[in-house]
Amino acid sequence: MAVVKANAYGHGLARVLTGLDEADSLALLEMESARWLRNAGWAKGIMLLEGCFDLADLQESLALQLDFVVHNKEQLGTLEHQVDALAASAFKPRIYLKINTGMNRLGFTPEQAPDVIRRLETLVAQCKLPVPVLTTHFANADADNLANKVVTPEDQYACLQALKPAHWQCSLGNSAGALNWPKFVGDYFRPGISIYGATPGPNSAAHYGLKPAMAFTSEVISVQSLKAGQAVGYGSRYVATGNQQIAVVACGYADGYPRHAPDGTPVWIKGARRSLVGRVSMDMLTVDVTGLDLAAGESVELWGAHLPVDEVAKPCGTIGYELLCAITQRVPFQIGAIHGQG
Ligand SMILES: *Cc1c(COP(=O)(O)O)cnc(C)c1O
Repeated sequence: MAVVKANAYGHGLARVLTGLDEADSLALLEMESARWLRNAGWAKGIMLLEGCFDLADLQESLALQLDFVVHNKEQLGTLEHQVDALAASAFKPRIYLKINTGMNRLGFTPEQAPDVIRRLETLVAQCKLPVPVLTTHFANADADNLANKVVTPEDQYACLQALKPAHWQCSLGNSAGALNWPKFVGDYFRPGISIYGATPGPNSAAHYGLKPAMAFTSEVISVQSLKAGQAVGYGSRYVATGNQQIAVVACGYADGYPRHAPDGTPVWIKGARRSLVGRVSMDMLTVDVTGLDLAAGESVELWGAHLPVDEVAKPCGTIGYELLCAITQRVPFQIGAIHGQG
């Protein structure tokens, strides 16, 4: 079940769709994207990760033939209220019953589960729906050390198995679950970040054999020569310690590059990592290229095949997910092979 929420993690649903042909189902939470997928001819499953937000949503999800999560008593109540409509519906949605096994965001508690499962069994029988899937979400499948964690993937798996009726299937694994805890992913797994070639942690994308689907590139538009004591950009954050060459790159926070990137954040220019220096502005960022022979027009990789997005995210205090999702409207996308990737 390929997760394509948030416009396919910033890659563009339309652009990634042909690459997901082999998925049994797609998973997302935006009704507008589900509608778009049906119009685009996606005929296999689509699953709503947060379920239906209201009655109108439920009606549209039946019309669009969507499967969905049920995670709270309001959603369950709406379904029970709509038993006649569900029984009459030609499309029979598969319901993913979400259990809160320790994440404490969505789902019924283990104490509520037996009663909720009974109610769902009744509904499924009345409406001739497919056997539901018991589901939960890992809190720490990406952790490099579980010693100080209140809940582990193993705990969450055991909790779910203890509640699961024998004839139901289950779904647990996100990317981190599948890569780090394959025994606990269940019958349906839901990879997101890994299908775009970035890592959920704790290891690098390369460690898991993942290749990036996106390269974020631009070019140098100016080269400045600084002397010791001269500063670059807003706030004069970076002051040259000697004669330094500074490349000005056409990319800024209005393109989705993080403004809080500190000095030293890697940028790939002329076959090596160079250090970002000075504050990222709306349309430009600046990189120390001292000793390089380069001119305006030189190509720059902000992240991609040479520079994993996760390694840019790290000094910025975030994760690759956030950077991928943050690319803005004005950035032109091109589909094709990523430079430098075999
Ligand atoms: C986003 C999401 C996933 C995918 O997570 P990744 O870490 O990107 O693999 C899986 N399951 C649910 C419920 C999600 O919301």
